Amino acid sequence: MVECKYYSFYALAKINDPELLYEAFQQQIAPGHANDIEIEVFEHSDKRWKRLTPSGGLDQNIAPPILDILKEKFGAQDAGSWYYDSDIGGWFCSYKPLTSKHFVLLVRCTDPDQLIEEDYLQFLFHFYCHQLQMLQGTYRDALTGLYNRRAFNEKITQLLDNTNIYQRRAKDYSPTMFVMLDIDNFKSINDNLGHLFGDEVLLLLAQQMTESFRDNDLLFRYGGEEFAMVLMDITTEQAQQTLERFREKIADHRFPDVEQVTVSIGYTLFDRSLSIDELIGRADNALYYCKTTTRNVVHQYENLVEKGLIPVMKSPRAPNIETL
Ligand code: GH3
Ligand code: MG
Ligand code: MG
Repeated sequence: MVECKYYSFYALAKINDPELLYEAFQQQIAPGHANDIEIEVFEHSDKRWKRLTPSGGLDQNIAPPILDILKEKFGAQDAGSWYYDSDIGGWFCSYKPLTSKHFVLLVRCTDPDQLIEEDYLQFLFHFYCHQLQMLQGTYRDALTGLYNRRAFNEKITQLLDNTNIYQRRAKDYSPTMFVMLDIDNFKSINDNLGHLFGDEVLLLLAQQMTESFRDNDLLFRYGGEEFAMVLMDITTEQAQQTLERFREKIADHRFPDVEQVTVSIGYTLFDRSLSIDELIGRADNALYYCKTTTRNVVHQYENLVEKGLIPVMKSPRAPNIETL
């Protein structure tokens, strides 16, 4: 029987990105036994099942018997369950980790005559889920459940790092937008009603964000009453429309005891040649423009610059020696 290996937290931290689940689960299996067990990871997002490939891609062609099992056994209500299918000869383990996505692992022995013992699989899988929960505490904001500042720093750095897998994958999603959102006059909500009401607004706003943006988008609580987002695979026109719609939705939403909550939103193209500070600076400049004009409005950095409403931000960059 294969044994479980305790793998370092550093490697497990990658699980926070569901696309790396395949690799992360593989790492739970002791060396020398990795070839005995075959894992497939299926993701349910945007109302359909997809197979994650070990290289991080998404494959929509799932063999019919497996697709039928996924559809039949793992519906929207399922919050984590087990199922062994003797025809497929494998265990289906489902769970909902850190996002609104739903994942199912199919775990099989590569030798069809050998069965994976339920006890062992449960051990492996529970260990793995436990680590996920621990990571949730590390990377999620306790009040809103969104990614926290630490996750923000790591993820944005990963996306900007053109040597790693995130960057390669991000190319598939381009263009991408980086968004900063700030609640208008939030201090007065605290002052007039108390901190608890303020907290409630933060929580409800985060829920609206999760409902309104896509599964692949990254949502962060940047700090206090400020939020950041990375919107994947979206043009400027689409981003303007989506963010405008969200702004209106919040302005129209009835928050308990608060007459109206509005938000200001500044965004910019997720330009991968920028540093993290430059990227934040651009979105922040657009946000600052919102705050110093009308509030309750959406502006894009590039658009404001083009109209001459804000100056171009200097982006200090070392000259490319080869082109000199
Ligand atoms: P503006 O429209 O310019 O953004 O005004 P504002 O009042 O929203 O901004 P300001 O920066 O003056 O105040 C932000 C307030 O957010 C101050 C701080 O007490 C409050 N705040 C920060 N974090 C939390 C939190 O976790 N819970 C609550 N209830 N309030 C918070
Ligand atoms: Mg504010
Ligand atoms: Mg603020």
